[in-house]
Amino acid sequence: MAHKKFVFVTGGVVSSLGKGIAAASLGTLLESRGYKVTLIKVDPYINVDPGTMSPFQHGEVFVTNDGTETDLDLGHYERFVRFQASSKNNFTAGKVYEQVIKNERKGKYLGGTVQVIPHITDEIKRRIKEGAKDSDIAIVEIGGTVGDIESQPFIEAIRQMTLELPTNATAIAHLTLVPFIKVSGELKTKPTQHSVKELRSLGLQPDCLICRLEEEIPREEKKKIALFCSVDPKNVISMHDVKTVYSIPLLLHEQGVDSILLDKLGLSKKRRPQLGDWQKVVKAKLNPKSQVTISVVGKYVDLHDSYKSLNEALDHAGIINNAAVNINFVDASKITKKSINALLKDSDGILVPGGFGERGIEGMIMACNFAREKSIPYFGICLGMQIAIIEYSRNVLKLKGANSTEFDLETKHPVIAMVTEWKDASGKKEKRSQDSDLGGTMRLGGQECKLNKKSLSYKLYKKDSIVERHRHRYEVNPNYHDAFSDQGLSVVGTSIDEKLVEMIEINSHPWFIACQFHPEFTSNPRDGHPLFNDFIKKSIKLKR
Ligand code: GLN
Repeated sequence: MAHKKFVFVTGGVVSSLGKGIAAASLGTLLESRGYKVTLIKVDPYINVDPGTMSPFQHGEVFVTNDGTETDLDLGHYERFVRFQASSKNNFTAGKVYEQVIKNERKGKYLGGTVQVIPHITDEIKRRIKEGAKDSDIAIVEIGGTVGDIESQPFIEAIRQMTLELPTNATAIAHLTLVPFIKVSGELKTKPTQHSVKELRSLGLQPDCLICRLEEEIPREEKKKIALFCSVDPKNVISMHDVKTVYSIPLLLHEQGVDSILLDKLGLSKKRRPQLGDWQKVVKAKLNPKSQVTISVVGKYVDLHDSYKSLNEALDHAGIINNAAVNINFVDASKITKKSINALLKDSDGILVPGGFGERGIEGMIMACNFAREKSIPYFGICLGMQIAIIEYSRNVLKLKGANSTEFDLETKHPVIAMVTEWKDASGKKEKRSQDSDLGGTMRLGGQECKLNKKSLSYKLYKKDSIVERHRHRYEVNPNYHDAFSDQGLSVVGTSIDEKLVEMIEINSHPWFIACQFHPEFTSNPRDGHPLFNDFIKKSIKLKR
């Protein structure tokens, strides 16, 4: 291809319209036309990365294979498009400013005055182009809403790109809200007109408008928006509420969005879109043959976005098994001897997800014990594996005072302990990334893990070497490995140097698997994930 192509996705009126899903769906469509797609999210906030942002405020931190802690939209991207994001696919205003200030300190600007234009905008353009490498088309989602103070340098950078590159190298899709006023029974197009006006005042003319509203947008309103916003009526797209987000690529395709973008970008439309696997996903999602209830026992349960990838992975496993997965979120800190039965009695499976800090730990340990003793399928992820180790140590090995150094520094038997160094897949010793705020070092990103060929996990993955993503500081204390195996809890997966525990199973239990990594980050609706797929399959089968 002569030029790299860019599709910029901006948002207007209000936030939380589903810009990430819209961008991801455009990616799905362009990929289905045979193009190599990459997606980039730029966040106008000042935090240097989302790694230290509270899950309560910001939702999940999505971890990429190269160990970058990113915005949760990157999760949508990887679920909708077959590509693997890296540190280049997400950057914030903080990161841009950090780089420019570093350059300034090094004297790179030769004593010139450092300014938003051109220095900040140049750095934004550099990062966008860097992220777009190795793809035919890069979809660039600009976080925030057009008109925000924070997003101005980003919009300006895009404006410069549309000018510097050939006309057919860039396209702009603007997502906007078309509210319905119930009392007068009217759809209001004015907010859209205003947000497009704002965009145009910053020098950008949208090629297509993706309108968010409850019901499909009627023709008259489409025409009106087109007229006032100076776009072709066929380029006004209705992205109305649908039963599953996975049908959005199909909804956009029916309205010709892929053709609109390819026309603007001067790309061939010869290859018909291959959307059969998405049709299958939607059909399975909308026509479940059975129901299953999974209790997720964690601490961030009030904000479901904190477990975004996890919720999606459970949903994908439901799609693969033709079942509707109902998630029963249980606040671990509410679990007591008295309340546990009421809180967990309807669980067909119990899952303890990742988490940090002390709150809710005892409740999670009780939930794990409940699952183990009542033979309910148990899936422990990251913290959930550490919980399983503590539970087993206390209740089967009878180690009094078994705990994790994270929760109790005075612990007598630290079965979960902090290690400050680990070896990477090549056997090279590497320091973990520093995280001074929390006083520890973090093991992050895709790491190779060896599976025991006799294990269920090996049977599910169908291979003895896997790469899964990590985000944790604590490890199972190696001094206890043998003691666990002697008592029926087998270590079935380890790091390749065999020092770190990656996966455990209890053979005598119908389904008890826990892993130190986060399998939810690599699940997608088309394939699911081997561990989630089998967890749901077994939970359906053993339904009481
Ligand atoms: N808090 C635990 C650790 O740091 C678990 C982390 C997690 O579940 N992501 O090891």
